[in-house]
Amino acid sequence: MNAYVAEFPARDSVRRESRVETFIRQNDFDRPTLVLDIDRVADQFHALKAGLGRARIHYAVKANPQREIIERLVHLGSGFDAASRAEIELCLSLGAHPDHISFGNTVKKARDIAFAWNAGVTLFAADAEQELEKIAEHAPGADVYIRLIVDASEADWPLSRKFGVAREGAIRLMDYAVSLGLAPVGLSFHVGSQTKRAEMWTATLDQVAAVWQAARDAGHDLRLLNIGGGFPAFYGEEIQGPTSYAARVMQLIAERFGDVPEIMAEPGRGLVAEAGAIAAEVLLVSRKSDNDMHRWVYLDIGKFSGLAETMDEAIRYQFLTERDHELSGPCILAGPSCDSADVLYEKRPVDLPLGLRAGDRFIIRNCGAYTSTYASIGFNGFPPLDVVVLGD
Ligand SMILES: *Cc1c(COP(=O)(O)O)cnc(C)c1O
Repeated sequence: MNAYVAEFPARDSVRRESRVETFIRQNDFDRPTLVLDIDRVADQFHALKAGLGRARIHYAVKANPQREIIERLVHLGSGFDAASRAEIELCLSLGAHPDHISFGNTVKKARDIAFAWNAGVTLFAADAEQELEKIAEHAPGADVYIRLIVDASEADWPLSRKFGVAREGAIRLMDYAVSLGLAPVGLSFHVGSQTKRAEMWTATLDQVAAVWQAARDAGHDLRLLNIGGGFPAFYGEEIQGPTSYAARVMQLIAERFGDVPEIMAEPGRGLVAEAGAIAAEVLLVSRKSDNDMHRWVYLDIGKFSGLAETMDEAIRYQFLTERDHELSGPCILAGPSCDSADVLYEKRPVDLPLGLRAGDRFIIRNCGAYTSTYASIGFNGFPPLDVVVLGD
């Protein structure tokens, strides 16, 4: 096993091998497996918290709902941003206090709202009239924050179009919330997932600050600013460390909002991505014709078994193989399923060792976020991603 270790080269842009990567190299896996280091989540929580200062962290559960992650975060005093009844139940069952859970999905089932309210959750997101009506009926008198749509996202995985209401709409919704007996306590937004630099928040914060001021001018005594997620993970391009990144975001907020009574942040990716790596295997390396420039490398994991974020090649993972010291060349990377959409990287091929062959181990780095629950339950008979948690 140790001879193996020595063979892994230290490429310039590659960070030191992590505990989960070492674990993967030293063990065998019979199916694609996400290995998670919960201590790494805790470290990242402390690092983000140090930069976020008085802002409360509500972990975005959807990034990775693994029970050990939730348990540790409960223990560390984190709050939670939940999107469904099941996520709320999960947090409650692992000891989270309902006061520390926000129901942040702007598209909720009426009966999930009733469930949450009865369980003691009092803070809900909304971006439309009908959503406010549902909340008023099933969680009468609840606190609501209005989600704003933001344009000009510079994120690698923008979330901007689907959620939120535009500026004028926000004030109208607050007025409507009041008329329904709800308490419109603040605003939320999401700058877009994997926003690599803190400075990229500037344009969004300018937009949100203008609405915040307009709402206050209209007589709404806002107290809560929910800044969502967007905190980046390392996928090869250098990023600012979590503490300085978060501190810079808080500084940009202070410059624009002055004294906001309550700020909450909802990191997902930034908290858990670097705590995980996937153990995968090369199933086949081939060429389509003799003069084909590119090799095709097929893995035992693809878009339908955990790597959904390769959609549009948006998130570009990094890989480790046992041949990284050998000559490399451009390869098209694909999953194992019989769906032609199951190609991970083709527009921008990935540089992989030319000697790669069927049966080789293939490690996907920093993929603890948005993988395990993005796996289909058995498309083509391929099992969903297995998860192994390293304890302390
Ligand atoms: C997904 C999501 C997050 C987490 O976003 P990251 O970019 O992973 O940090 C935060 N808030 C809301 C409302 C979300 O939907």
